[in-house]
Amino acid sequence: MGERTALVWLRNDLRLADNPALHAAFDAADRVAALYVHQSDPDVRAPGGAARWWLHHSLADLNEELAKLGVRLSVHTGSALDTVRAALKDSGATSVFWNRRYGPAEARTDLVVENMLRAEGVDIGTFAANVLAEPWTVKTGAGNPFSVYTPFWKALKGQHIPTPLPAPKGRSPIKPIPVDTDYRQPRWAGKLTPYWHIGEAGAHEALAVFIDGGLPDYPQGRDFPARAVTSRLSPHLRFGEISPRQIWHAGHGLAAREPHRAETVDKFLSELAWRDFNYHQLYHREDIATVPMQGKYATMTWRDAPGELAAWQQGRTGFPIVDAGMREMWATGFMQNRVRMLTASLLAKNLLIDWRRGEQWFWDCLVDADDANNPGNWQWVAGSGLDASPYFRIFNPVTQGERFDVEGAYVRQWVPELAKLPDQWVQQPFAAPADVLRQAGIVLGQTYPQPIVDLKTSRVRALEVAREL
Ligand code: FAD
Repeated sequence: MGERTALVWLRNDLRLADNPALHAAFDAADRVAALYVHQSDPDVRAPGGAARWWLHHSLADLNEELAKLGVRLSVHTGSALDTVRAALKDSGATSVFWNRRYGPAEARTDLVVENMLRAEGVDIGTFAANVLAEPWTVKTGAGNPFSVYTPFWKALKGQHIPTPLPAPKGRSPIKPIPVDTDYRQPRWAGKLTPYWHIGEAGAHEALAVFIDGGLPDYPQGRDFPARAVTSRLSPHLRFGEISPRQIWHAGHGLAAREPHRAETVDKFLSELAWRDFNYHQLYHREDIATVPMQGKYATMTWRDAPGELAAWQQGRTGFPIVDAGMREMWATGFMQNRVRMLTASLLAKNLLIDWRRGEQWFWDCLVDADDANNPGNWQWVAGSGLDASPYFRIFNPVTQGERFDVEGAYVRQWVPELAKLPDQWVQQPFAAPADVLRQAGIVLGQTYPQPIVDLKTSRVRALEVAREL
């Protein structure tokens, strides 16, 4: 019998360890080939700019790592069906493996590919790899999907979360051929480079740094953007450079060795599980990026205010913590969670601008933007999500700034024109006495904007609109 080849189709699982599809390919054949498809299928949402930049570097890194195991990676742009068919022919593979995806459009293309492969008589293996528990495995007592987070989290905790697999044992290494991974990378994205170590090694480094550094302060510190105690694992998870199961078991391992940390670990894992909750919603609904999950929001009239939208996008709203967040995201591809909530609330509630406009901006700017968590969280803030923030919860960016950026360190970092303001005024320069502004070198409307909206009246307006719904 001749040498058998298996093809592994990589998607949001750009890693060697805990990659069941890659593992199965090694078990099935003497030779393994890998494929990545920049999918051009019409329903599949193309990644935003910052994510394309990350993807380019992640694929380049993976190419090198796969070559050490004797696996050649090919990267192509096209429809999933045509590209997998062509790769099958090129490689002569008799079996194909992949890890499952949960977006309805992705699942549909996977099914089309699966049917084609079956018709060709090719062996197929598909696996769970990128969530803690697949969407159809966590259900209410009545057998329905959960729409409330807390019972979902309880049910998830009761699931068996499989132990991560090691990386497959390599065969003869090959010389990596540089692949053309450069998929419409935006020119601006190069500036993100200093902030990230992209790839599987970078992901594990981020986890180790977090466990040794931020974790003990996580429950108290995670809401404070200047403390930077969170894991920053989200873009690594987005591209599957690390699996949630690896993080889960790292957390439980730590809690077993050091029981006094168990509560802290539990808090961290309960946040990780929000990621799964959003994937469950993605799976059970047709299009969470455009359709409000609560039907009544479909009739909502949003304001058309391009000038205000642009000011928000550019971090020129006149609310320092909001502007700091928007500028942090533009500079680094990341924004801390509490600040994401504040910036989103200002747009969708105070400005009454359609949350989908904000979601789209985040989609393009965030390195971690994904189909489940970006729309899921936007709908949470806008109020249209399941188990969403209630309509009357409208964050006040001044009091939130005073609470979570007490000394203004975060504002001073990202909005340097306010750096000289005393703590008392740094979250609300518009209220500062004239001499304080003068001493800090600030001319409102010139060196820093006046607020683009009045917080009190816009709050009342948002409440009225929500009540009408
Ligand atoms: P940590 O606090 O260290 O948490 C660990 C992991 O848990 C995260 O990496 C993430 O995978 C998960 N997690 C934590 N909080 C959440 C949450 N609220 N929802 C879902 N998962 C969570 N997260 C994304 O991964 N992609 C997005 O596109 C995204 N868009 C968002 C948009 C808005 C408007 C808001 C309010 C939040 C969004 N989030 C998104 C959730 C959250 O802000 C980020 O996951 C988190 O800030 C990432 O930082 P971290 O890795 O340091 O998180």
